[in-house]
Amino acid sequence: MDKVNKSEKEWKEELDDMQYHVLRKKGTERAFTGKYWDHFEDGIYICAGCGEPLFESRAKFEAHCGWPSFDKAKSTDVVEEEKDFSFGMIRTEVHCKKCGGHLGHVFNDGPTSTRLRYCINSASIEFVQNKDYKQEEE
Ligand code: FE
Repeated sequence: MDKVNKSEKEWKEELDDMQYHVLRKKGTERAFTGKYWDHFEDGIYICAGCGEPLFESRAKFEAHCGWPSFDKAKSTDVVEEEKDFSFGMIRTEVHCKKCGGHLGHVFNDGPTSTRLRYCINSASIEFVQNKDYKQEEE
């Protein structure tokens, strides 16, 4: 995989303010304010920073938390995890392996067989419609 390396200036020019805040500054959008927490179409969610396909719609579930939530990444090769000790908590931060963009956090309390809950900011992903990713196909 060719990693994407851009200067802060380049990212700032390419991304909108919320995307930059989340992807490059590890910010978090307010719950229920993003465009995908209540979005359930068939397709794939790609990185808003570099376009890498990150999450499939069939991995998405309603977590009632105000952020788009997935029970697994498209592949273990596309995301990387890092311990996050900010705000007095111990969490596992998730970022795009290709561009390093912050996506959200992953927790071990998911409701499906993977037990994982990727809690992702809408600002860090873009949805691409594709019927090939419909829920029935497992
Ligand atoms: Fe990326």
